[in-house]
Amino acid sequence: MQLSVAEPHGMCSGVARALEIAHRTLDAYPADTLWCFHELVHNEHVVAELQRRGAIFVDDIEVIPQGARVLFSAHGVSPAVRKAAEARQLEIVDATCPFVAKVHAEARRFATESAPIALIGHKGHDEVVGILGEAPERIHVIETLEDVVTLRQTLSEKTLMVLSQTTVSEAMYEARVAELKQAGFDVCFPNALDICYATRERQQAVRELAARVECVLVLGSRNSSNSKRLVEVAESVGCRAHLITAPDDLEQIDLTGVQQLGLTSGASTPEALLNELRQRLEVAH
Ligand code: SF4
Repeated sequence: MQLSVAEPHGMCSGVARALEIAHRTLDAYPADTLWCFHELVHNEHVVAELQRRGAIFVDDIEVIPQGARVLFSAHGVSPAVRKAAEARQLEIVDATCPFVAKVHAEARRFATESAPIALIGHKGHDEVVGILGEAPERIHVIETLEDVVTLRQTLSEKTLMVLSQTTVSEAMYEARVAELKQAGFDVCFPNALDICYATRERQQAVRELAARVECVLVLGSRNSSNSKRLVEVAESVGCRAHLITAPDDLEQIDLTGVQQLGLTSGASTPEALLNELRQRLEVAH
């Protein structure tokens, strides 16, 4: 079996930055004094390592003791969460990725203008929840064609500002924008695309890889948006693709007869894990 690895793949600058912030904070203070609001990044191996070092993960600001230290994840938080943290006099360590912060800034700016905002993204994802919180009465999350249809039926305005989650696939983004136009909206965009460079480069790389291999394995967590998108992009060019969370998952995948196998990893997957996967495949095949 011949192995090919997509380039680029794996950890992006936003995740590396968030990890550095977390580890430096853990280095500087005693154990069990850093409370992380939500998973720092969507990868269970990364979270387990931080837990091992004494970080405490919570999904509710109210359970953090008054005056303690809180770390906001790379996915960012809503103004309401920030306010709740301030009300509890928490010391905030902010690891929000700058590309996510940019979308928050756009949402705040656009919310002061007259047009409503369509946010193309996956409902319930931490990043989308945070951006939506900038102006919940002005922002409409658009994930599917049905959301576009509902928006057309409920909005009287013709002009729409369009933002997106940083990790949606370019195909999904383009499809929803085309549907919004078809529904009769005049759409306006920020100066620069919201899908981040890391998402775009990794999707382009896996698209090219998937066109020349029989199967692609994407190493990443099940709740990692960008990892799931890599699977979809590989499948979109007719390639078989699987999301695996750890090298042990290989046992569940039938690679019989596969001569050309492609590998890639999500933006929050440690490189050491991909190397382990690679080594196991090289030994087994
Ligand atoms: S995937 Fe993009 S937006 Fe998300 S952390 Fe990485 S660089 Fe930032």
